[in-house]
Amino acid sequence: MALIVQKYGGTSVGSIERIEAVADKVKSWRDKGHDVVVVVSAMSGETNRLVALAKAIQDTPVPRELDVLLSTGEQVSIALLSMALNKRRCPARSYTGHQVHIRTDNMHNKARILDIDNKRIRHDLDQGRVVVVAGFQGMDEEGNITTLGRGGSDTTAVALAAALKAEECQIYTDVDGVYTTDPRVVPEARRLERITFEEMLEMASLGSKVLQIRSVEFAGKYNVPLRVLSSFEEGEGTLISYEEEGMEEALISGIAFNRDEAKLTIVGVPDQPGVASKILSPIGKANIEVDMIIQNVGVDGTTDFTFTVHRNDYDKALSILEQIKQELGAREVSGDNKIVKISLVGVGMRSHAGIAGTMFEALANEGINIRMISTSEIKISVVVDEKYLELGVRALHSAFGLENKS
Ligand code: ADP
Ligand code: ASP
Ligand code: MG
Repeated sequence: MALIVQKYGGTSVGSIERIEAVADKVKSWRDKGHDVVVVVSAMSGETNRLVALAKAIQDTPVPRELDVLLSTGEQVSIALLSMALNKRRCPARSYTGHQVHIRTDNMHNKARILDIDNKRIRHDLDQGRVVVVAGFQGMDEEGNITTLGRGGSDTTAVALAAALKAEECQIYTDVDGVYTTDPRVVPEARRLERITFEEMLEMASLGSKVLQIRSVEFAGKYNVPLRVLSSFEEGEGTLISYEEEGMEEALISGIAFNRDEAKLTIVGVPDQPGVASKILSPIGKANIEVDMIIQNVGVDGTTDFTFTVHRNDYDKALSILEQIKQELGAREVSGDNKIVKISLVGVGMRSHAGIAGTMFEALANEGINIRMISTSEIKISVVVDEKYLELGVRALHSAFGLENKS
């Protein structure tokens, strides 16, 4: 008998029929003698609906009030699932984040979990109940409701699994595991049996939204075995764990992509010490995160400086650059918000040369121009025009033979 934390995403609880199906699944684990804690998301589409309501009142809703609103989605799902379990004579109790003391910092809309007091959950488990917890929400020190950022229910589940020292944290979703790339873009994508925390963290950071980044960070830090599975079919899913000896080291584990990028260039800035900081400090002060950065080799005492930001920050960054242009006496500011980033991820890259060459050749064969490149030990990312996203991902998937089990 083990303690298992299960998380069911929006699609998995998207209708009454699906909630009933989840209840059957939870009950079958309970019937096998396991202690089960369930985390649920809002029913699919609900969080988007709530965001739209808020935006109909204010372009940028007051963060505290937005959290009060968004947290209601999950409260609906926990109550319905708990009812469905009780109907099956499977005793269950639902709790919101603050009721089980999921304490976070006060960064509304993207709060971080600080700690969880699991006394109440333990008590219910001891009484033989299934505990159903609302994902994506917590409470700050002053008792304000907070939310954890989109996709945050994954992080609630992993944090609970860590706090309860669960045997496994199971993330049930609408695909049957982590694939070599998003199976909605490449139908030939292959399910991975295992992937390391390190690779999964890169995939999530580079745009694969199957798991929230923080949930993977958390699982790695507390060594919580994490499994992604289908809520609709039986199967082993994908296990995310530390690298073990003898584990097959795939050259490339997967391809991630991110459609939320935009790039900006300031042309003809003086090629002098301190210029990069004069450009990026005001951007940072405006709370804009910078991703890739390129500075060209200087010619005639001037240089060009290019960087990427989240597409939502594009207009703000452009207007800041216009100001900097005046101050630095630069020639021109330009930008493009129709770009995407495609990345290859794999721990095997560490010990293999030539991967970048194969990647660039595959893109060139499709006539895809690479606008920016960045690399790290286990990833290579390129920025290309948005219209080439699908073509580029498919070309790379096939160039590295990811559809076949290597
Ligand atoms: P949930 O609502 O259950 O949290 P999400 O929509 O957040 O589900 O995550 C599941 C989706 O992630 C899949 O439907 C799939 O389109 C997408 N996805 C992106 N990259 C991958 C990948 N490498 N493997 C599997 N799914 C992926
Ligand atoms: N309901 C939230 C969202 O849609 C959290 C989650 O589903 O994980 O982002
Ligand atoms: Mg999700």
